[in-house]
Amino acid sequence: MNYLKLQEVSTHNLKGFNLDIPLNTFVVITGPSGSGKSSLAFDTIAQLGKEKLLQILNYDKEFFPLSSIKAKLISSLPPVIGLSQGIKEWYPYKTFGEFLFIVQFLETLFIKWGEYKCFGCGYLNKISSFEDTISYYKTLKNGTRFYFLLPVFEYSPKALEYFVSQGYTKFFIDGKEIDLSEEEIPSKFKEIYLILDRMIKDEKSIERFVENLRLSLSLNQGRIVLKLLDGESKFFNLKTVCLKCGNYLFTKWYKCKQCNGLGYKERIPCKACKGLKFDNIVLASKLFGKEIREILKFDLKEFKSFLKENKKKYSIPEDWLNNIFYKLELADFLGLSDIPLSTPVFKLSLGQRKLLEILLIFGINFTQCLYVLDEPSLGLDLETKEKLL
Ligand SMILES: [Zn+2]
Ligand SMILES: [Zn+2]
Repeated sequence: MNYLKLQEVSTHNLKGFNLDIPLNTFVVITGPSGSGKSSLAFDTIAQLGKEKLLQILNYDKEFFPLSSIKAKLISSLPPVIGLSQGIKEWYPYKTFGEFLFIVQFLETLFIKWGEYKCFGCGYLNKISSFEDTISYYKTLKNGTRFYFLLPVFEYSPKALEYFVSQGYTKFFIDGKEIDLSEEEIPSKFKEIYLILDRMIKDEKSIERFVENLRLSLSLNQGRIVLKLLDGESKFFNLKTVCLKCGNYLFTKWYKCKQCNGLGYKERIPCKACKGLKFDNIVLASKLFGKEIREILKFDLKEFKSFLKENKKKYSIPEDWLNNIFYKLELADFLGLSDIPLSTPVFKLSLGQRKLLEILLIFGINFTQCLYVLDEPSLGLDLETKEKLL
């Protein structure tokens, strides 16, 4: 068996003893209050782990916090993860979902699959990457004929003159193909698309397709409609610009301006965001067809089935989800799965906070670590204590 070997341990009031602690097993340190349990577990063992980490990271000695360790370590030390009794330092308004990094995870999913609500017209926009657009192109059957169209938002004659001066004279105006080098612009119309190209899908035309994508970025902010001759139309938006009105879309999840993203003031939910912390334009945007507002109200169980439902449909990569599913399983096991993501920490009971701490520590699938826990069962009922063991 491997041991953590310490000699002359005399941190704080400890009396200079030698100690071998078996590794890869569960060890309990007990004793009356003031007997030095925390001095041994935290101020000695966990602190040694911390200093070792700082050394590995090459921190300069002078930046080390004043060390109070008085002990000799004569064995190797696995990476140490410490959990103290300190709930005090927790931000009371930080939510369950933020602590579990689920909100941050949602933002990441949103970048790829989200639908951005437009400030200007309310239209829900999907943003596509170059790769998404090329993948769609590749799914077309060889021989498929389609128009490469750019929606035009500025209907002013000037805007059209500009295109014509650049040699782009063919347009779809209210569904009718019009060549402006031969015909006049109708005095009234609803929709207008520049016909950038007419293409036939085959193996060789990929370069031309990519070139058209590039052109669309400079001509039209990367807003594209691929109109197949059999009738299907597909929209792509390569920049964060509204497809309908041309307004810029938000690029990051804006915090609610009323509460600066705290969600609460003196423990009362903010009126504007209802405690959800984000701007309403973000909350009204969608991921996998659900409003962000609804998703943030999910409890962990609902969130898990939401991910499971959409995993296949949107082909979310397995390795994106592994860690989050591991965490959610553990939350379920600890009995935390009925807590909504948007619950601020101050609303959790002492026991729930303790379990959340445990979830945070064990929710990362580390192996070969030394976990140092200070009274981890504080505030838990007997049944949960047994489960935890
Ligand atoms: Zn818009
Ligand atoms: Zn607010």
